[in-house]
Amino acid sequence: MSPTTHSCTCGATLRFRQDMIEDRSGVRRSWRCKDCNTPIPNVVAERLSHQHPS
Ligand SMILES: [Zn+2]
Repeated sequence: MSPTTHSCTCGATLRFRQDMIEDRSGVRRSWRCKDCNTPIPNVVAERLSHQHPS
């Protein structure tokens, strides 16, 4: 399976868990871009959360 990437609206390319901020304030866990705080679609974020730089 090839790595998932997500192009944020701020122009950042998100590749790893580290590129996101975990938001536990809601009922469900959600993720935001660490640069601009834009919510990341959950399906994408869940994949990214399993990716780490090797
Ligand atoms: Zn962003």
